Amino acid sequence: MASKRIIHKNIKVTFLLILFLFPLSQYAHTSQKKIVIVLDPGHGGNDPGKSINVKTGKSEKELNLLISKKVGNYLTKNLPFVKVVYTRTKDHYLSLDQRCNIANKNNAQYFVSIHCNSSQNRYASGTETHIHTKAFKKSLKLAQFIEKEFKTRAKRKSRGIKTKKDRKHNLQVLLDTKMPSVLIECGFLTNKTEGKYLNSNYGQEIIASAIFRAIRSMIYYEYPKLKKENQKVEKSNKKKRTYYRIQFMASIDPISTDAREFTKIKQPIERIKIDYKSIYKYKYVVGKHISKKKAQKMLRQIKKLGYKDAYIIKMEM
Ligand SMILES: [Zn+2]
Repeated sequence: MASKRIIHKNIKVTFLLILFLFPLSQYAHTSQKKIVIVLDPGHGGNDPGKSINVKTGKSEKELNLLISKKVGNYLTKNLPFVKVVYTRTKDHYLSLDQRCNIANKNNAQYFVSIHCNSSQNRYASGTETHIHTKAFKKSLKLAQFIEKEFKTRAKRKSRGIKTKKDRKHNLQVLLDTKMPSVLIECGFLTNKTEGKYLNSNYGQEIIASAIFRAIRSMIYYEYPKLKKENQKVEKSNKKKRTYYRIQFMASIDPISTDAREFTKIKQPIERIKIDYKSIYKYKYVVGKHISKKKAQKMLRQIKKLGYKDAYIIKMEM
């Protein structure tokens, strides 16, 4: 009997442990796992990166971080099925081992290391995407997408894809990461024109959006289903249009739209949380008109009911 009781107790403990280890939110995610992209801003902390002859502008480590964050923002804003993991988001030192570990532990789909180049030759310019070897087909494909975007959309000079053979040495972040991985050189800081471009917000945006588009192409290449789904979402988002509506009240605390004070209003009332800075937290809105004239007619009716301060707002929905 005693042993039976102990078993019973253990089952209970195990059950509680399972509940504890798998919170519902995590469980819900398993059906639609996100694609993890690891972005690796090169250098950081006491390692500033390449700075040969760079007299003006930011150091390589700073530019790498700025560009990486812009890439990350593009990805998360446009691709709901992507999760971005950065190896660093601040200016601190990380070993190459640590960078690879972050990618491997997060089961990243792609690893993208972002750098800026330099040369003794101040005329050298252009972008490069490094891979380990062309035998790694997915890395090669991603690199092709990146250099293509640099050349066509970003209008940069592409120096092409570089492998171990071209470099005559290994790059640890490409060798020790278990997923398709690339190291991008966004341009030469030692070249006056390109250095200026890379230091400008405009240049960083162009470079970052090219990298974003390339990663998106790679995802769609590997998962054509996601392309179809996302295009549907994009289309329906575009279908949003502007309506004229009547806001007749605002409040600090939420008031039920069924409240007695609203019984005079015959139209369905919508309570909307105010997302801009305001002492009021909720607004109360009726009507939804494409024609401004009809909205003005409704506004007159609402004012007659005693809501003298009511006014027309434009809402995209
Ligand atoms: Zn570098």
